[in-house]
Amino acid sequence: LLIGVPRETLAGEKRVATVPEVVEKLIKLGFSVAVESGAGDAANFSDDSYRAAGAQVIEGAARLYEAADMVFKIGVPTPEEVGLMHAGQTLISFIWPAQNPDLMKQLADRKVTVLAIDSLPRTLSRAQKMDALTSQAGVAGYRAVIEAANAFGRFFAGQITAAGKVPPAKVFIAGAGVAGLAAIGTAVGLGAIVRANDTRAEVADQVVSMGGEFVKVDYEEEGSGGGGYAKVMSEGFQQAQREMYAKQAREVDIIITTALIPGKPAPRLITADMVKTMKPGSVIVDMAAERGGNCELTEPGKAVVKHGVTIVGYTDLASRLAKQSSTLYATNLFRLTEELCKTKDGVIDVNMEDEAIRGLTVIKEGSITWPPPPPKVT
Ligand code: NAD
Repeated sequence: LLIGVPRETLAGEKRVATVPEVVEKLIKLGFSVAVESGAGDAANFSDDSYRAAGAQVIEGAARLYEAADMVFKIGVPTPEEVGLMHAGQTLISFIWPAQNPDLMKQLADRKVTVLAIDSLPRTLSRAQKMDALTSQAGVAGYRAVIEAANAFGRFFAGQITAAGKVPPAKVFIAGAGVAGLAAIGTAVGLGAIVRANDTRAEVADQVVSMGGEFVKVDYEEEGSGGGGYAKVMSEGFQQAQREMYAKQAREVDIIITTALIPGKPAPRLITADMVKTMKPGSVIVDMAAERGGNCELTEPGKAVVKHGVTIVGYTDLASRLAKQSSTLYATNLFRLTEELCKTKDGVIDVNMEDEAIRGLTVIKEGSITWPPPPPKVT
């Protein structure tokens, strides 16, 4: 089968769904690969580098979609892109079926098969290698610290120099899931003193293992809402949490917020009053900006200065490290393709008996198969 990789069309998107080193692996698995001319430019992968890896380079999305049996993408397809798809094709991309019912219908009308990489059952340990949410959140967490360091006027590490003693920067991370843990590791690596908080008590050990200190809210309530995700906390907990966060805001130089709750707006953790008490020159990076923001003053997509504090609300953090995020994404899709092609002959079998494949197959030959049935209780 021919795997086609179009250029991403979302404004500002720099990533690409496959990279030359992965093209070689797909070819070894029996596939042919075609890339739209310019698809890798923004991530620093030239057309020539894809050709050298064995891919064809095709001019224009229309011809690419026409030729492809499978399409690898990152961004949720636009109506124009859906219009280019043809019956029998297989699409692997971010889809977010719950948020995009119209898109699901349009794709089903094209009689295609769609594997939504966002719908992979993440708690299956054999699915980890295919988990693009994790790979992209890890890159974004790293980049959040780099953005903070860029906006911050001082070193992260403490130093004793002939020109005087420099104290280490203090960083507070709100939410220690995949992105938060990556941010902890990066900030510790740069030499900062790092503290973190999460509503799920189970992450405390992970925070410590990354070199951070876990700061507890003085209120007993378990925050797990199932599947490793958080739930909305009680008003009593939220009040106690705000008091603790207000104290952190006064003490630290940098706050990175990553808190999300599935299907809900991002919890508001940093109020305008807390921002006012931060030291001038402090930085907040709000990784929840796209989902409404953890900080009251965040403006999604922008970096703004309010009350002397730089508040970064970029919604494209993984794309800002496009070479890295594309390489990891491409590897996730390669691992998925291996699962689809156990025979290693360039032909796929979308096996609906396989729990991981069943979970992410949201449309099969034009029929909507999302949501999947609940996992069997054994
Ligand atoms: P996420 O992006 O949904 O949320 C980020 C973090 O914010 C979570 O840790 C969450 O608990 C926290 N949070 C939510 N509300 C909060 C609040 N009010 N205050 C403070 N923190 C709050 O989560 P994620 O990073 O996608 O990870 C979710 C879970 O999935 C984690 O347990 C992760 O380990 C798990 N996961 C498991 C696997 C696997 O088992 N193979 C793979 C990937 C992720």
